[in-house]
Amino acid sequence: MSRAIALAALAALLLTAGPARATSSADGEALAGGRQERAPARLAPAAGVAAPLPQLPDAPGPRSVTLSHGSTSRQVVHMSFDAGADRGYAEAILDTLQAEGVPASFGMTGQWAQANPDLVQRMVAEGHQLINHTWEHRSWTGLSDHRGHQTAAQIQDTLDRTDAFLVDLTGQSTKPFVRPPYGDYDNAALEATYADGYGYSVMWTVDSWGWRGIPATQIIERCLRLAEPGAIILMHVGVESRDGPALQSVINGLRDRGYGFVSLRDLFES
Ligand SMILES: [Zn+2]
Repeated sequence: MSRAIALAALAALLLTAGPARATSSADGEALAGGRQERAPARLAPAAGVAAPLPQLPDAPGPRSVTLSHGSTSRQVVHMSFDAGADRGYAEAILDTLQAEGVPASFGMTGQWAQANPDLVQRMVAEGHQLINHTWEHRSWTGLSDHRGHQTAAQIQDTLDRTDAFLVDLTGQSTKPFVRPPYGDYDNAALEATYADGYGYSVMWTVDSWGWRGIPATQIIERCLRLAEPGAIILMHVGVESRDGPALQSVINGLRDRGYGFVSLRDLFES
């Protein structure tokens, strides 16, 4: 892809990033009435950069760019998991991803990482991407947990603490990827995260709704029905969600329908 096209795609992305919004959504932890993020975000790799990982262009600021969709030009999806509650099905999920050769991302709270360092190390060793999900999963805006808006310094502190812990544990930084707790964000929060080195706030296209307690059969049906080229499919590792038991069938069903699975960075390659 040429530099001009890459920049045009980025410009389109920034236009879709839009004005301040506070989304309350299905980011797991027992929040009713969630909804899906559907802002079409397309991002092209920078031209002429030789790197082992596909290279996202630097987010231009002043706000972290919300990503809820990858490039639609290939029939691929990305599997992303949140880990903020218990150990749940994390081990079984990693087994399935490894057996199937599916690269995933994990939105990780510092508290979860501290409680499950073996699993975090395994995620990195097996090539998965860690996403900073804050230390304690407190809402940046207060929308979902009614604890008030966090200051920029508070948001940055919780991200710094988590990233420092993960770098120490695995050698891998979460930057430039962050996932807002509950999916709550607004311009002030996105400016605070951008200033802290998180150019991209990773949302999702398809929420499995496992966190709502629906059975695995419904999770499978829902993911297969809503999948589309470039989708980010969000699941949770916690035992409250039947996402772990559903995963194998979701992978099989998507492959039957012609989908491939790519890493978070690869999702934005045309
Ligand atoms: Zn979460």
